[in-house]
Amino acid sequence: MQALQIMVREFCRLIWPLSCAGCGQPDWHVCPQCQDLLNFEAQNIAPLVESQTPIYGIHKYDGEMRNLILGFKNLERTDLVKFFQQLIGRDVQSWIASGNGNCGRVLIVPAPSTKKANLERIVKPTEVLARGVQLALTEAQPNLKHCIVDLLVQTKGEKQENLTYKERSRNKTNTISLAKKMSKRFPPPQSIILVDDVLTTGSTLKECIYTLEDGGYQVQTAMVVAKS
Ligand SMILES: [Zn+2]
Repeated sequence: MQALQIMVREFCRLIWPLSCAGCGQPDWHVCPQCQDLLNFEAQNIAPLVESQTPIYGIHKYDGEMRNLILGFKNLERTDLVKFFQQLIGRDVQSWIASGNGNCGRVLIVPAPSTKKANLERIVKPTEVLARGVQLALTEAQPNLKHCIVDLLVQTKGEKQENLTYKERSRNKTNTISLAKKMSKRFPPPQSIILVDDVLTTGSTLKECIYTLEDGGYQVQTAMVVAKS
């Protein structure tokens, strides 16, 4: 089914030329003006989510950036993969420039999506972004070892009364947990870079960070492309 979807989509693209996913200008994947969105410095935007973990991100989730992200996530425009990998690479550069990345080895962990979303998608945005982080790390910090590990999974969530006092006080909902096999293969303590696409309320990232920390991992930073 997926192969058929890909064939139909690629066939359509042969007949109807592309337009810039950001502003609609014809005959570009990403036009030069929208390409300029790469020329910003990533900032630590952590105060938004009451977390000590630095969270790197660049853009506000609006205008052309919003169109680009929606095109990438919902229309699965695979032609935007390189653009988004370069974009999250800016987070990596800022993180390294702040004196980080000397931890020997780091696990790159994508924020988990629901099983349903995983089945429906041909392109998994957080996986593409995790690969972008990996590429940028290789370039910026050649001595740092790294690999992408699906350490987190979405779960149904615990009833409030089943949560411990600590979990309740942190507003934890237990909708995310450690993937058993992976956490056995990569046992704590390990340094983690968490990767997600857009930071909205911050609740998902917070849940990811607490789950990893409670499991004994050290979350060095989280990286996103935009915040709403
Ligand atoms: Zn454009």
